[in-house]
Amino acid sequence: MSQESLHPQLSSIEIETELKKAGLRPTVQRCIISDYVLNHAEHPSVETIKTWVDKHYTGISLATVYNTVHALESAGLVHAIRFDHSDKVFYDTNTTLHHHFLDEKTGELIDIDPDKIEVNAKLPEGMSINEISVLIRGERA
Ligand SMILES: [Zn+2]
Repeated sequence: MSQESLHPQLSSIEIETELKKAGLRPTVQRCIISDYVLNHAEHPSVETIKTWVDKHYTGISLATVYNTVHALESAGLVHAIRFDHSDKVFYDTNTTLHHHFLDEKTGELIDIDPDKIEVNAKLPEGMSINEISVLIRGERA
């Protein structure tokens, strides 16, 4: 990935530790998947992860991808997010509050720092905001 990611990289030992904490045995396959999701992918879906895995390794099942991603989610290392442009679930390793830019040409989701978008929400009385997350659709030159 050429894009600089906002999340810190995890070493293979840290990945093993996190998998154990999440109640999963850190098998080679799970470590491979976790390394890809945490250190290399940007907002992958399970489908994206499986495609990458199949290109580089043989014999890693979709079930293994699912249970690894769910373990990472329960360990708080990724957030599952849905956007209204797709019925897929995307996994975000940037677990701090941020916005997204969707490149409609490529389908790529790019993190946008919350400081870069100002939302002026005028809500009806009695409503309070817990969180604002914005999806901007556009195209990158
Ligand atoms: Zn994100």
